[in-house]
Amino acid sequence: MSNATTAIRFPCASCAGPMVFDAESQNLKCQYCGAERQIDKVLDEPVEHPFHGRAEDLDLLQDWGTQQQAIRCEACGGETLIPAGQTTSTCVFCGSPKVLSQDNVRSIRPESVIPFRVSRDEALQSFARWKKKRFFMPGDFKKADVDSQLNGIYIPYWTYDTNTYSVYSAEVGIYHYRTVTKTRVVNGKTETYTATERYTVWHPARGDYGRSFDDILIPASGHYDADLLKKLGDFRLGELHGYKPEYLSGHISERYSVTREEGWEKAQNVADGTIRAEIRNVIGGDEIRNLRIRTTYNNVTYKHLLLPVWNANYVYKSKTYYYMVNGQTGTVSGRVPRSAFKITLFTLFCLGIAGAVVWFIASHPELFASS
Ligand SMILES: [Zn+2]
Ligand SMILES: [Zn+2]
Repeated sequence: MSNATTAIRFPCASCAGPMVFDAESQNLKCQYCGAERQIDKVLDEPVEHPFHGRAEDLDLLQDWGTQQQAIRCEACGGETLIPAGQTTSTCVFCGSPKVLSQDNVRSIRPESVIPFRVSRDEALQSFARWKKKRFFMPGDFKKADVDSQLNGIYIPYWTYDTNTYSVYSAEVGIYHYRTVTKTRVVNGKTETYTATERYTVWHPARGDYGRSFDDILIPASGHYDADLLKKLGDFRLGELHGYKPEYLSGHISERYSVTREEGWEKAQNVADGTIRAEIRNVIGGDEIRNLRIRTTYNNVTYKHLLLPVWNANYVYKSKTYYYMVNGQTGTVSGRVPRSAFKITLFTLFCLGIAGAVVWFIASHPELFASS
């Protein structure tokens, strides 16, 4: 990379080496001599920005307090941001060495960050414990020490707040029961009997419903497996810190690929799902049909967050596998090699049980006859 002339952003006071954010001490730590420097932590309520704000305000929000270089991978298109002076030689998403520095980074800076709590060693230990519990894994892999490549990455998210007001109309169905007299033929003779029959009476329902949403969390990453991200579990958003460039030192941030506007679309879908479920509850009844809801979203605010993730990969029998570790809670999600032998064995076992059930039903018809 060509940015060798850029000065170190956080030089060590004792040896002038680069200082990086250290998960254990929650301070800046020199990579060479181990000296630490305290970070003034800002624990104020993060600022929520109006979604329909002025264009000038949006410009101000692009000041990261430090120069950021955008790095684009020619192989997978992944974009990351790294603090000036820091270098990277391979893509953190696909491992390709074809990474290029980009000019003109215009990205909204994060409002808040959850700094790394889980160190690299702890992330490796979490993975080692996690892989022991996988069921269909080859036995030799289970015991093996895995040589993982780990990158500490801040993954971008948006959160949205809004007050919503909805009007709705629907038809609500209430079940009623009546006794009816029916006839049937038994042994060639017609006989009458009574049965209980259900019917539905429909009533119109309409009303309004207001509700506010706080911090609808929308991933803004474009390069992670959404499924793996979800399985990383929840982040404790109560531990958000006001953004400081120090937190990013020594780490990579993924540049958001979901824009603020696209994120809001997704947040509306999340809100709509919740509103719909709650209105159905309010309407009650046994069945609801033709439910129509019109919602207005007021006081929409957003903020941009960076959340910490250890992104890792390893090679097993010349195939690459990926996993992630939540950098705050240590939760692991990932894919592991699967043993074809164990899967076959398990399938045969299930087929065996299914076969036994079929045989049992076939040989005891009296137990399963319907009346
Ligand atoms: Zn030092
Ligand atoms: Zn790549």
